[in-house]
Amino acid sequence: TKWVYSFGDGRAEGRASDRNLLGGKGANLAEMCSLGLPVPPGFTITTEVCTYYYSNERSYPAELTAQVEAALEEMGKIADRKFGDPAKLLLVSVRSGARASMPGMMDTVLNLGLNDETVEALAKDSGDARFAWDSYRRFIQMYGNVVLNIDHDIFEEILSDEKGRLGYELDTEFTADEWREVVALYKEKVEAEIDRPFPQDPREQLWGAIGAVFSSWMNPRAMTYRRLHDIPASWGTAVNVQAMVFGNMGETSATGVAFTRNPSTGEKALYGEFLVNAQGEDVVAGIRTPQSLTERARLESGSDKPSLEKVMPEAFATFVQVADKLEAHYRDMQDLEFTIERGKLWMLQTRSGKRTTRAALKIAVDMANEGLITHEEAVCRIDPASLDQLLHPTLDPDAPRDIVGTGLPASPGAATGQIVFSPDEAEELKSHGVKTILVRVETSPEDIHGMHAAEGILTTRGGMTSHAAVVARGMGKPCVSGAGALRVDYKAGTMLALGRTFKKGDIITIDGASGQILAGRVPMREPSLSGDFSIIMEWADEIRRMKVRANAETPLDARTARKFGAEGIGLCRTEHMFFNDERILAMREMILSDKEEQRRMALAKLLPMQRADFIELFEIMAGLPVTIRLLDPPLHEFLPKTEEEINEVAQAMGVSADKLKERTEELHEFNPMLGNRGCRLAISYPEIAEMQARAIFEAAVAAAKSTGQPVIPEVMVPLVGVASELTYVKKIIDDVAKEVLAESGAELDYLVGTMIELPRAALTADTIAKEAEFFSFGTNDLTQTTFGISRDDAGPFLETYRKKGVIEQDPFISLDVDGVGALVKIAAEKGRSTREGIKLGICGEHGGDPASISFCETVGLDYVSCSPFRVPIARLSAAQAAC
Ligand code: PEP
Ligand code: MG
Repeated sequence: TKWVYSFGDGRAEGRASDRNLLGGKGANLAEMCSLGLPVPPGFTITTEVCTYYYSNERSYPAELTAQVEAALEEMGKIADRKFGDPAKLLLVSVRSGARASMPGMMDTVLNLGLNDETVEALAKDSGDARFAWDSYRRFIQMYGNVVLNIDHDIFEEILSDEKGRLGYELDTEFTADEWREVVALYKEKVEAEIDRPFPQDPREQLWGAIGAVFSSWMNPRAMTYRRLHDIPASWGTAVNVQAMVFGNMGETSATGVAFTRNPSTGEKALYGEFLVNAQGEDVVAGIRTPQSLTERARLESGSDKPSLEKVMPEAFATFVQVADKLEAHYRDMQDLEFTIERGKLWMLQTRSGKRTTRAALKIAVDMANEGLITHEEAVCRIDPASLDQLLHPTLDPDAPRDIVGTGLPASPGAATGQIVFSPDEAEELKSHGVKTILVRVETSPEDIHGMHAAEGILTTRGGMTSHAAVVARGMGKPCVSGAGALRVDYKAGTMLALGRTFKKGDIITIDGASGQILAGRVPMREPSLSGDFSIIMEWADEIRRMKVRANAETPLDARTARKFGAEGIGLCRTEHMFFNDERILAMREMILSDKEEQRRMALAKLLPMQRADFIELFEIMAGLPVTIRLLDPPLHEFLPKTEEEINEVAQAMGVSADKLKERTEELHEFNPMLGNRGCRLAISYPEIAEMQARAIFEAAVAAAKSTGQPVIPEVMVPLVGVASELTYVKKIIDDVAKEVLAESGAELDYLVGTMIELPRAALTADTIAKEAEFFSFGTNDLTQTTFGISRDDAGPFLETYRKKGVIEQDPFISLDVDGVGALVKIAAEKGRSTREGIKLGICGEHGGDPASISFCETVGLDYVSCSPFRVPIARLSAAQAAC
């Protein structure tokens, strides 16, 4: 087996596409070499050696030593040097390099091969004894730390003691002899720590470093990083051994990092920093202030330190050529590391550069316009989830944060305001122009007015699909939910967080992107939508197959949805339309009446309000499809709770408060999520469905007239489990339609369909499709009922599950493809087997999640529907799924 791949002198055994075998760094070093770029010769030990190492009790394959020796020999030939030979000194660097970049997994070891003898040779070779002894002490420090596990601070202490003794401020003040002293002290310390002298044999040093890289793959830091970024342990890391070049050989040497375009704005201009007479880690360490690469950047920054362009014009010119070549070759913005040794440029690394969302958009659009990439590639280069950053204000990343708790990142964006504990207070303060954060144990539909009025919402209970989370996302308001460590005391008007007490009126900030709760005000960055954003969106629309609709019920939401490019409403949750003072009373009268006649009277009050709502929605959506769902939630959500509310309803209904209380108790349910809700309500109280159907059809007729465009309402029945439930409710709807059309003399097309949100519905979808003209997958309830996990109580234990690695993803956020997804697939197939071309969509929260959208494409759904602020994310994800 080939375990070692060499590169150097314009040739390489590997290439960029060998990333899995050689790791990112190794593969790109090989590629740069083959492109004829100046790369110090070296070799890569493959990731397969890492795998072997761990499956064979941390030992190496038998052929490895010989292959490494041969590669060292080859490297020496190219460099005209010999590893371990003081007469033809060859020093090397040893670096890790996994498939995916894993910053900080293992530090680099530089200057390897130095010992008491070769340090003299380096002094002679370079003609600079100070440089040689400085390099040796750096090596002992790095090797001691990374390979011998000696605490970094132990070396730093010795160094600062020496500085104190000599009265120096900076490392650069040390003379050669003084560095020699430091080396002696370091070596003494190492011996004391490890009970043997610092290794002098270069080969022992090399194998020590190789072993340290492979061992670092299983250190806790690396394991945590892998878990957070879904990187499998089986991938392993490669090891790169490369001839040293020195950026610290005096004033004609330098080292630096660069991006081929500006990583924060995306502007097409070389961007980077360098230090004269320095070694790689000095740039990162931040002890000396680095200088700009270009004159232009120097002028812009107002720095008086000269740019690389000025101090080393020739090396700079070569570097610009190399950077251009690499960007054109990889067809992406590159992040580069380089060293200039006595005027000669060497490339040490290239990789795709990390960038802000704004930069990502600009770079993708520019590169497509430059003809470097296609529109499809441009669209695929943007991380859909990152668009959230553009649509909401975010916390200034540089601002200090006083974190007092964390909850679930339920709805993105950041908000600051005074704490209020009741929705009415939020509304009241808003009318005086005061910004608030509504803090609740949990929210219910009754709190909606306060949620609207507040800048952000914080709850101590509930998960990612809790009422607060769903409604806040719909409104585009920041929300942190399920912050279980917080204690809210409504009576006392206090919130206890991390031992601190916050009172009503105190200022807090919440960050719905991270789930953080912070004391006081934190500076924000305002969202900015650039022209590049719309261009990428246009391109995405050309590519995608699935339509994107929005979940919306208020005119404001519907307008926002259209602004973001929604192609209809996929879910109008009508229950959300009943919560304002005027309507809730009529609603309560309706629920609490025990006679049909009385119920009908209350419903008659609600009819005109519902009709007006729907007319407005239809008008805003101007001919686009609108799916309206019949009343879904358990009735108890609407019941009066306080004494005051009970009296108010009793009075309106002309019954006694006691009688009303009795009725309220009758309606109590132990498990409302599985109780009398959804289509069960329509079957128990057909008058409700009648009223809603009438409101829908009368509104459709009216809106068709006012807009001059046909309106095709899609009436949706929730929580169907048995086909006959749908048959029953559909008949009510069809009968009302006939009546309305007869009364108005108008013509109207409409569809009646159902949510698929119970396993039984999915499994019998062929029978259900006999009645249903469309299916909309309600994956919130489908996840709840498939897993048997309560969507409102799951937050805390699912978080524990994630931490303990029992599950990787919260299934309420990203669709569980194996279980819930299997049901969706079965239902889609069965539905189509009965009714070819049946319209299929998804309206659970997953409709706005990129991974879930990609699954929807594989099942061939016709559309996804998500909250208005996620519409751009869904458009982009749908395009990527179609690529
Ligand atoms: C669902 O269950 O996925 C759904 C969209 O309905 P709701 O969240 O209103 O129950
Ligand atoms: Mg549901």
